[in-house]
Amino acid sequence: MSRKQKIDLARILIAGALTAALHFLPVTGALRFALYMLPYGIVGYDVLCKAFRGIKNRQPLDESLLMTVATVGALALALYEKSGDYVEAIAVMLFYQVGEWFQSCAVGKSRRSIAALMDIAPDHANIETENGQLEQVDPDDVEVGTVIVIQPGERVPIDGVVVGGTSALDTAALTGESVPRDVSEGDEIVSGCINLSGVLHVRTTKEFGESTVSRVLELIEDASSRKSRSENFITKFARVYTPAVVGSALALAFLPPVILLLAGREPGWGTWIYRALTFLVISCPCALVVSIPLSFFAGIGGASRQGVLVKGSSYLETLSEAKTVVFDKTGTLTKGVFEVTAIHPDNMDSEHLLHLAAHVERYSVHPIASSLRAAYPNEADDCTVENVEELAGHGVIARVNGDSVAVGNGRLMEKVGAQWRECHRTGTILHVAINGDYAGHIVISDVVKPHSAQAIAALKKSGVEQTIMLTGDTKAVAESVAAELGLDRVYSGLLPQDKVSQVEKLLEEKSAERARLVFVGDGINDAPVLSRADIGVAMGAMGSDAAIEAADIVLMDDDPLKIATAVRISRKCLRIVKENIWFAIGVKLACLVLGAFGVANMWFAIFADVGVMILAVLNAIRCMFVK
Ligand code: ADP
Ligand code: MG
Repeated sequence: MSRKQKIDLARILIAGALTAALHFLPVTGALRFALYMLPYGIVGYDVLCKAFRGIKNRQPLDESLLMTVATVGALALALYEKSGDYVEAIAVMLFYQVGEWFQSCAVGKSRRSIAALMDIAPDHANIETENGQLEQVDPDDVEVGTVIVIQPGERVPIDGVVVGGTSALDTAALTGESVPRDVSEGDEIVSGCINLSGVLHVRTTKEFGESTVSRVLELIEDASSRKSRSENFITKFARVYTPAVVGSALALAFLPPVILLLAGREPGWGTWIYRALTFLVISCPCALVVSIPLSFFAGIGGASRQGVLVKGSSYLETLSEAKTVVFDKTGTLTKGVFEVTAIHPDNMDSEHLLHLAAHVERYSVHPIASSLRAAYPNEADDCTVENVEELAGHGVIARVNGDSVAVGNGRLMEKVGAQWRECHRTGTILHVAINGDYAGHIVISDVVKPHSAQAIAALKKSGVEQTIMLTGDTKAVAESVAAELGLDRVYSGLLPQDKVSQVEKLLEEKSAERARLVFVGDGINDAPVLSRADIGVAMGAMGSDAAIEAADIVLMDDDPLKIATAVRISRKCLRIVKENIWFAIGVKLACLVLGAFGVANMWFAIFADVGVMILAVLNAIRCMFVK
C-alpha cells in the first residue's frame, strides 16, 4: 500500500467511526449540522477540491462534480426539511471513497505485478580487477568489449558472448520459456536472463543502453501512451454522457414538480430533488473509466509475461481483428540456419569455392551469410576483403584478394553477366562468379522451425482466415515449405520492394475494414513491410534493430507459436473490454431508470456503482492470465 492509500484508508475509517458515534449523540440544530460536517469534510475534502478546480479550469463535468452536487444537495435537502439526517450524504461520499481506494489498489497491484515481471533491470555489473577481485560497477559505465563476470543467481546485465564457464540461464522473464537454456563458451547471451548455476565470464557486445533489457523496458514504458480505439471511445462517450446526465437530473428535479404545480397539485420539491440527486450519484461512470485502460494494461502485461512485447493498446486491439497473417520465410518460418548440402564447382576445388563465398559474406547479417561462415570456420584468415556491396534480395559482391566475387542467386548472376546454370538439387542455390565468370554453386538448405506447422494450425483455429508466405527464395523451395506447413498461399522470387507491393495488394483485397493483415518477419530485408502492414510482428528482440523499430509487436524469441499466443491474448483482452463496457453501461442504465422512478435511493445507487466497478476491475485483471 502506498502512503496515499494508507492515508485514504485512515480517512475512511475515521469518518465512518465519527459518523457512527454522532448517531448516538443527542444534539440538534446548528450544532448537529456543524458536528456532522466534520466527518463529511474528512472523507470528502479532496473530491470537493477537485470539483472546484474542475469548475475553475472550465472542465467541470467530471465525477467529482457529480459527487459534490449530489452530496451537497442531500445535505441542503436535510437542512431544508429540518430532518437532521445528514448520514446519507456522508455515506455516499464514504462509499465513493471506498470505491476509489479499491480501484487505486487494483491499479497499483497490476502495475506492480507488471513491473515485477519487467523487473529485469540489473543494478550492477561485475568487473574483474587486476588483482583478481570483483568490482561492482554501474552497467551504464561498462564499455563494449569488456569482460564481465556473472555469478550464479545474478541477472545478466548486458548482452554479450560467453568467453568462459558454463551455466544454465533462466530466460522466463523475457520469453516466458520455463526450461532453462544451457550456455557455454561462444554462446551469445542477452541481458535480463538469470544465471542459474555456474560463474560466467562474458565479453559484452553492446552498451547497456543498447542491450535487450534497456530496449524491452523502453518498449513497455512507451506502451501505455498509445491509446486504443476503445479508450478513445470513453473520452467521446464522456463528452456526450456527462452533459446528458446533468441535463436529465435538472429536468428530473424541476419538470415534474412544475407540472404538478400547474395541475394544481402538491409539487413535492424535496422528493424530486432527492431523486435527481440519486440519479446523479448513479450516473458516475467509474467502472467504465477505470476498467478499460486497466484491461489493456493487464493484457499487455500478460503478453509480456509470455515473451510478446506489444508496443501499445491500440496494437492489441488491431491484432484481435487479425484475419490474414503473412509470413516471411527465412528466419521466420524456417530456422535460417542453412547447411551446405552440396558444392558444385567449375574448374576449382570445392574447398576453394566455399572459402571464397564465406569471405564475401564476412560482414553480412543475412542468415545465409552466418551459415556460410559457420560452414567455413577458418574464414577469418589473412585474405583481403574489400568493397563489400550487399544487394538486398540478390546477394553480395566483394573484392577478395583483388578479384571481384559475386555470391547470390540467379538474379545476381544476370546482373554481373555470368553464364549460370540450374542445379538439379532442391535447396537454396548460391551461385558464385569471379570477375563475371561463373565459378559454380553451393547448395544450402534450411529446415522449418519445429513449431511452424503448429503455429499455422493454431492461427487457423483462432479465426485467422488466410496464412500466406512471401519469400525471395526460388519457387521450388518456397512450395515445398508451404506444403509442409499447410500455408494457404505462397509468393516466391520476391525482391524486398516486391514484398511491400505484394502486401499492399493483399491489403486491397481485404474483405472488410476490420479484417486486419499481420506481417511477421525477422526484419532482415523486410523492415519496410513490417511498417506497411496493419500490424508488424518482429521475430526475436535479439534480432535487427530496424525490425524492432518498425514493428508494432516484438516476439522475444524466434518461436512462431508466440504469434498464435499473441492473437489469443488480444482476442481475450478485447472480449473482456467489451464485456465490461456492456456490463457497466447496462447496469448504469437500469439503475438510472430505477432512480428516476424513485425505486432506488442513494444507498442503493452507491452500492450499485461501487459493486459494478469492483466486478469490472476484477474482470479486467483476468486479461493478465492466458493459458
Ligand atoms: P527471404 O524472403 O527468404 O527472407 P531474402 O529476401 O532475404 O529472403 O533473400 C532472397 C534471396 O536473395 C535469397 O534466397 C538468396 O538467394 C539471396 N540473398 C539475399 N541475401 C543474400 C546473401 N547475403 N548472400 C547470398 N544470397 C543472398
Ligand atoms: Mg528474410
